[in-house]
Amino acid sequence: MRFDNKVVLITGGSRGIGSATAKAFAKKGAKVAINYRANLAAAADTLEQLAGDGHILVKADVADPTEIAAMVKEVAEHFGRLDIVVNNAGIFEYHPIDQVDYETWQKEWKRTIDINLIGASNVMYCSAQQMMKQGGGRIVNVSSRGAFRGEPLQPAYGASKAGMNAMGQSLAQSLAPYNIFVGTIAPGFVETDMAKEVLAGPDGDNIRNQSPVGRVAKPEEVAHGILFLASEGAEFMTGAILDINGDSYLRS
Ligand code: NAP
Repeated sequence: MRFDNKVVLITGGSRGIGSATAKAFAKKGAKVAINYRANLAAAADTLEQLAGDGHILVKADVADPTEIAAMVKEVAEHFGRLDIVVNNAGIFEYHPIDQVDYETWQKEWKRTIDINLIGASNVMYCSAQQMMKQGGGRIVNVSSRGAFRGEPLQPAYGASKAGMNAMGQSLAQSLAPYNIFVGTIAPGFVETDMAKEVLAGPDGDNIRNQSPVGRVAKPEEVAHGILFLASEGAEFMTGAILDINGDSYLRS
């Protein structure tokens, strides 16, 4: 898999899976735009570790449609094109139905859907306009095993990722005539900040043992799946949802 001089925008590229994906693309020759929301130090640290040169940082909150449009415009103007977009930014907030009040419930659902689903849809919209103009592109959405398995403690998260799966399937159909291909990956638990607390807690061993491999994924393993869906030769996988969960949850 080579991505020489391909321009890649990764939302939430400052940490975790996004950071590993930025490093993997850069290693394979791509020019990377790392989006971050708040954590400039982490974003700058990722930037510093990228192979090659010419990579940039772009600040935007994906919950803000105006900031998304400005971010995509900035990347396209800076590089002259936008070949690959990875919709990776996301949040995973605790709000079990039997423990939170009604006000918190509404706040968590709105915030989660705004970032994980509507934010991703707006990134797709703005990127697709640029990709249609230039004659094609790739979009990879980072969903979750939780879309299939349920998330009893983070129900809005599970719903946001199920929505993301359906969005990818719909937009793969809309965009294929424009030579734009859409893939989705569905990781199980991954060793990142997002999962750190849960994996260190009393459920950590149970979660690791959900996989016959006896561990959760490394961010680099998820990045590998993202690069695969964005690679030359994977075009006909458009609309597919790829499990990366170490056989911890089977669906057919
Ligand atoms: P992470 O370590 O918590 O990193 C989250 C990233 O998203 C950070 O770069 C953060 O930016 C960014 N972000 C959050 N809200 C944002 C916003 N409103 N606008 C722009 N950026 C925002 O998480 P991760 O584990 O790498 O997760 C990445 C993706 O994988 C998410 O979509 C997540 O749902 C999915 N996933 C994760 C797991 C897991 O177990 N870790 C499992 C399945 C799926 P800042 O640094 O600026 O805050």
